[in-house]
Order: sequence, then structure tokens, then C-alpha cells
Amino acid sequence: MALKRRQAVVVDVGVVKVGGNHPIVVQSMTNTDTADTASTVNQVMALARAGSELVRVTVNTEQAAAAVPRIVEALEGFGVRVPIIGDFHYNGHILLKKYPECARALAKYRINPGNSDIGRKTDDNFRTMIEVAVEHGKAVRIGVNWGSLDAALLTRMMDENGRLPEPKDTRLVILDAMVESAVQSARSAERYGLGPDKIILSAKVSAVQDLIDVYRMLAAACEYSLHLGLTEAGMGSKGVVASAAARAPLLLEGIGDTIRTSLTPPPGGDRTEEVLVSQQILQSLGLRNFTPQVTACPGCGRTTSTFFQEMADEIQRYLREQMPKWKTGYPGVEAMSVAVMGCIVNGPGESKHSNIGISLPGTAEDPKAPVYVDGRLVTTLKGERIVAEFKQLLNDYVESRYRRA
Ligand code: SF4
Repeated sequence: MALKRRQAVVVDVGVVKVGGNHPIVVQSMTNTDTADTASTVNQVMALARAGSELVRVTVNTEQAAAAVPRIVEALEGFGVRVPIIGDFHYNGHILLKKYPECARALAKYRINPGNSDIGRKTDDNFRTMIEVAVEHGKAVRIGVNWGSLDAALLTRMMDENGRLPEPKDTRLVILDAMVESAVQSARSAERYGLGPDKIILSAKVSAVQDLIDVYRMLAAACEYSLHLGLTEAGMGSKGVVASAAARAPLLLEGIGDTIRTSLTPPPGGDRTEEVLVSQQILQSLGLRNFTPQVTACPGCGRTTSTFFQEMADEIQRYLREQMPKWKTGYPGVEAMSVAVMGCIVNGPGESKHSNIGISLPGTAEDPKAPVYVDGRLVTTLKGERIVAEFKQLLNDYVESRYRRA
């Protein structure tokens, strides 16, 4: 656990609590056209099934705003109670006023102060959205993004910096401007009637070091709950590694109350991947447990077949598939550790440190696989049915160790 979690003001987002000492919340965002109700409902359900505790949808057109209440109703019909967040840019003030059913159905609004009142001398559009949130008792995330930072604010701060005897680096001025934009917008929202217990802030950038710096500054500047995420993390391993590298130091410092991993899926790729990555980051840091973890060695010249990799993969998949059933009847099972190792060099040692572990035979070793349970050798498996028999041992262990009294 983080030594000391930053004590942010707690925000209720529908049935989910964000901030304080509440578990760090995993959220995600759909990439369907929100006006396409069926596709959006299906993707929200997939994300929720994968473990997303909040789901954001784009609300960019009248058709999208009109679809939101139907989406929420359909989800309720399917028994999916995940709170839905509306993502508004440019025309949010119009849509929220014109579609009160949309404003009511959403659990939270995401507003970008950098594009709410572009070219205007007042913040009337921002204020309108806040007033709608107050009217309906909704939470708001004020989400600053450096790709759409308030240009007037940045210009003013750049000018002020230029007049200093020793001007700061431009990068730092941009980060300062992001914090200023987020905090000042939150203070304005409070003046317009929104309580601090309805406000979540974010300041997203796409570079790892910038994210760490800007969130440390933001955390020091206010007590609002913080949504933590690298914007446009990217694809594949780059996106996963950057997302983890940027957030791990912050999460371990107790900064961040809800996270989203902004992965770019390949065309036709699985959107739920971003949920699993967020969960994996939190679980790897010891901050939350979601699903039993398989520890597997990387394999080497002592593993001459792919059987060991296939078994490790199959066992991890098996554990994930059991979780919907296990998590209701077997509390604590999500923290179970399982080892699937390639040979006896490190296999028994790693197995003994896990709740249950197996070491497959490496090259030139006896064709048998010792299984350890809670540090003790309990049996040795061999032959064609090793995977099936190990699954049965897993089931037995879960039944005896975690069954609800
Ligand atoms: S446990 Fe055995 S197979 Fe796995 S990496 Fe170590 S030596 Fe290689």
C-alpha cells in the first residue's frame, strides 16, 4: 500500500465513491458512436464485465445526447449499474440544457475548460454546464488537457514569465498553466454552486515526466479528488509501459483517486484491454486486488517446448474466467498467488512463496511436476492431464481456503 494516501475530498459518482481512502477506481471510455445505442450498450457492458467501475461516453451531438437516457435505461434493464459519464466539449452547454433527460441520466459530466468558452471574454458556457450539474446534483470532472489548454491563460502566463528577471523554462510554464486552469476552474465552479464533493480534477499530458510533475503540482495545490491518466498513451507495449511508468510513482506517493489507461486499440481490437491494464497496474503496485495472479518464469534453454507457456497462459485465463463466480462466494480469492514455473531451478522456490504453485519438468529432468500448496509439497503431477489436474487442485484450494463462512 502507499505509505500515505493523499486525503482528497470524497465524491459520489452514482454508486461509486472516489477519493479519501476509497479504493482507487478504474474507469474506461467507449469508442462507439454514442448515437448508436446498441453498440454503445454492448461496449459499456463489455467494459463493466471486464471490471470498469465507471464508463465514459462521448456526448458530442444532439443524437448522442438523445441516446444517453436510452443507453442508461438499457443498461439498467440488463442489470448493469455502472455509472455513465458524459464527455462534453465545445457544445456541452447547449446539449445539457436542451436534453435534460441526458443531464439527469448521466452520473458525472466531464468538462474541458480549455474548449468551453473559446474566444469569449466570459466563462458563460462553463458556468451553464456547472449550473446544470448543480440542478441535477451531479459530479463534474474538470479535465484540463495540454492539447487543448486555455490559450488566453497560457498566453498571459507566458507574457508574465517573459517579464521575470529569470524566466522559467517554457515546459514549466505550460505545466503551471495547466494547474492554474484546473484549480481556477474548480474555484469558479464552487462560486457557481458546485460543492468540492462534486469536483474531480485532471491535468493530462502525453509525456511521462510531465505527467509526474504536473500531478505533483496539482496535488499540492488543492484537495480535490484527482483523475489520473496519461492522455494518448499510444498503442501496444509503448502505451502499456508509458501508462505504468507515469502513474506508478504518483500512485505510490498516494496521488490519484481514479485512473484510466488511454490505450489506442488496433483496428477492431478489444477495448477492454485498457481496463485490464489499469487493474494490472494497481495490482502490481499492491494497491488493489482484482484477480489471482500467475507468476511465471520467462523460460530459457531448459524449457524446450511451448507447453509451459501455454499452461501459464491457460491458467491465467482460467483464473480470470472464474472470477465472476468466485468473487461473490470466495472473498479474498482475488489476492491468491499462483506460480507456473518452467523447471526445478527456481520452480519449487517460487511455488513455495505462492499460495499454490507447479514446476514443470525442464529439459533432462524427470517428467513430473511437483505442486506446492501454502509452502508444502502436496503432490506430483505427470502425464497428459497435468493442466486439468492442476485446475482441480486450484478449485479445491479456493473452496477450502476462501469459501464464505
Ligand atoms: S525456472 Fe527454469 S525454465 Fe524458468 S527461467 Fe528459470 S531456469 Fe529457465
